[in-house]
Amino acid sequence: MDVTQSKSLYERATKSIPGGVNSPVRACKSVGTCPLFIDRADGCFIFDADGNRFIDYIGSWGPMILGHRHPAVVDAITAALERGTSFGAPTDLEIRLAEMVIDAVPSVEIVRMVNSGTEAAMSAIRLARGVTGRDLVIKFDGCYHGHADTLLVAAGSGVATLGIPGSPGVPEDIAHHTLSLPYNDIEAVQQVMDEMGDQVACIIIEPVAGNMGLVPPGEGYLQALRDLTQKHGSVLVFDEVMTGFRVAYGGAQSLYNISPDLSCFGKVIGGGLPVGAYGGKKELMSQIAPEGGVYQAGTLSGNPLAMAAGIATLEQLQQPGFYEDLATKSDDLVAGLAEVAKHAGIAAQVDHVGSMIGIFFTDRLVANFEDAKTCDLDRFTAFYQGMREHGIYIAPSQFEALFLSAAHADEHIDATIDAARQVFESFSA
Ligand SMILES: *Cc1c(COP(=O)(O)O)cnc(C)c1O
Repeated sequence: MDVTQSKSLYERATKSIPGGVNSPVRACKSVGTCPLFIDRADGCFIFDADGNRFIDYIGSWGPMILGHRHPAVVDAITAALERGTSFGAPTDLEIRLAEMVIDAVPSVEIVRMVNSGTEAAMSAIRLARGVTGRDLVIKFDGCYHGHADTLLVAAGSGVATLGIPGSPGVPEDIAHHTLSLPYNDIEAVQQVMDEMGDQVACIIIEPVAGNMGLVPPGEGYLQALRDLTQKHGSVLVFDEVMTGFRVAYGGAQSLYNISPDLSCFGKVIGGGLPVGAYGGKKELMSQIAPEGGVYQAGTLSGNPLAMAAGIATLEQLQQPGFYEDLATKSDDLVAGLAEVAKHAGIAAQVDHVGSMIGIFFTDRLVANFEDAKTCDLDRFTAFYQGMREHGIYIAPSQFEALFLSAAHADEHIDATIDAARQVFESFSA
């Protein structure tokens, strides 16, 4: 495959942008290749600067659940554009998206729009600390909640991909207010809560982990977190930036039937434009400025183009059978990938929750980040490179999920399975 243009753009980019990219995993460093520079995308396809076409399973890292350039989203953005790009003043669009989020997610009574998932999680933590008057935050190894200081401890996603233990620039004074525990280990949380529950402001979790690869919560795990936080007066924060409107319209909390105190959103609710949101119980959210004293603001928050894209996206998601269709297609893809791996004698764990899909190259069942780290990373690298050669665009990291969109049809799924078959067979040849 000719990637001359991408290579030369990358070389030029490294001179003006750190590592040539504006978000680390994009650089494809851990899979030993150059990133593809993208020219355009349409439906389930993405096209690079050399004109190569790929079936896209990154979907901008989650937002593109309808596929790229869905006509309803393009029309909504175009209509908003005609009225102006930003006013720094309230608009009807903000109310509409807020109402849609509240209708979709019963635990959310009030919601504040921000510009990214990072901002949403950071603000939810501030609110939890503000209302409880406590400093300690419990998170879980391999979960990623954006790059705020408090949350960069044992974080997943790029931090995991690049093997960075924490981050320079996060003061020890701040890091020591964060405790990171193994995912899916109820006893570990119980023990800490028994010892120091009265100091814990909040527990923040990805209710379905997607930033160490896909790791679903074990039976009873989320309920145990709900019970423990209730018992100790700590706030339970579900970071649904990836899972919200992705695994179900009401997010992971509707799938597992748990009501957290606060929830964070991003990705899908922005329909491909920069949006985040955090919301929850009225008694908590009323503590946010200007109603309450916990400060949080944003010049571009509630941006009309972003609100329009979010509303149009959510409207499409309300169509009957939308999530069932996506789950059926995900079933097919997962079953196909598992079969071709097995046939080629490749140890792999393939799983999905809704349209979030994971493939781990290990013979161990993966319930936490320790398990995920047993994966054969060289094998993943070969898989990534092979799939890319075959026109399949997946995240360049073992520790990221794949995303299916409504634009992926059976023929694209079959083509993907067939590509995987050829790649796996080339391993054993
Ligand atoms: C992507 C993600 C974030 C960060 O969102 P950004 O918009 O990249 O800042 C936070 N939490 C989770 C669970 C995510 O998947």
